[in-house]
Amino acid sequence: MSIVTYNFPTRIRFGAGARRELSETIRSLGAARPAFVTDRGIAGLDWFAALVKATEADFETAVFSGIWGNPVGSQVMAGAKATRGHRADVIIAVGGGAAVDVAKAIAVMHRHDGTIMDFAWGPDMAPIDAAKLPPIIAIPSTAGTGSEVGRSAVISDDETHAKKIIFDPGLLPRIVLADPEVTLGLPAHLTAATGFDALTHLVEAFLTKEHHPMCDGIAQEGIRLVARSLETAVDCAKRQAAGEPVDAAQHLAARRDMLDASMMGATAFQKELGVTHSCAHALSTIADTHHGLANAVMLPYAMRFNLEAVPEKFLRLARIIDPKADDGADFIDWIVGLRARLDIPPGLTALGVSRDTLDDLIPVAVADMCHQFNPRPVTADDFRAIYSEAFAQ
Ligand SMILES: [Zn+2]
Repeated sequence: MSIVTYNFPTRIRFGAGARRELSETIRSLGAARPAFVTDRGIAGLDWFAALVKATEADFETAVFSGIWGNPVGSQVMAGAKATRGHRADVIIAVGGGAAVDVAKAIAVMHRHDGTIMDFAWGPDMAPIDAAKLPPIIAIPSTAGTGSEVGRSAVISDDETHAKKIIFDPGLLPRIVLADPEVTLGLPAHLTAATGFDALTHLVEAFLTKEHHPMCDGIAQEGIRLVARSLETAVDCAKRQAAGEPVDAAQHLAARRDMLDASMMGATAFQKELGVTHSCAHALSTIADTHHGLANAVMLPYAMRFNLEAVPEKFLRLARIIDPKADDGADFIDWIVGLRARLDIPPGLTALGVSRDTLDDLIPVAVADMCHQFNPRPVTADDFRAIYSEAFAQ
């Protein structure tokens, strides 16, 4: 057996109100000129305005909020212009996966020349000088990608929409202020889609063929938290939107579980991901589908493909949901049921993706790295079969 690496380095301050430790966290890093990086949606929220105001009382502070949709290189370059202009010495990444990823990419361009695509993973990539990277403090506002505990960023090319990976150990945020209160206002549909991204990370990480029992333990406990709390979080979000009474303690407890599960998912996928993510990455590239939603739609189809390769692992997952389960397929049935209860479409046609995209999706999925770690090898014909089943609904 080969020698493998186990690594869990992020410092996380977790709990309701953790965001209020921001000023002392900035000071602890010896920084004095923070620049917030966030998306347009977060920029308009009261808790964000209050956080910026409190920070401005202590430091010369800048805010860049030019992030929206699936983030592209030009957003990174505009953000780097803003952080350079401010002479920022720490970047405060606030938001979901997109905003945190852009903040990491801005950290690269803050003191490097060229464009962000020069640093994209590949044979011609320019080297990243870790000494030039300002520290990042991350405050996640969704419970899904867990980008706040990861060392890579996914940024799309402006013209081709191809997703590029920027990777460097220095992109790992120095400190995460994980505050479930900031996720309380997340709408039901985003809570469901991002929650399913977290679930997909946990499931795919557990199933990969890599050897990493520590990640396997984290993945199984994360799945237990999702099973316990994702429906409750979505239900509370729905009631909130409808003006119905919500049990505040129950809502916060569910959001805590999901924020933990999200970071556990991203920690577990140090062990790599699998075929679902290759399908989802192609859907984002070709059809601009939301990443979490793409995973949610594809997960059961991809797992039915995987079941025969690792039936004993599926049985272990099924027993997280029901200790008396004796068939691994029960776990896939649970995913299908959960997805329906969260009002997520059952297939790509229901999601509004045209079947005409099928021939374009396949080569992009084949070229994606994730499926190389899948427990069962995936050919172009396999992708065609998996997508075709997803288009049938
Ligand atoms: Zn994902």
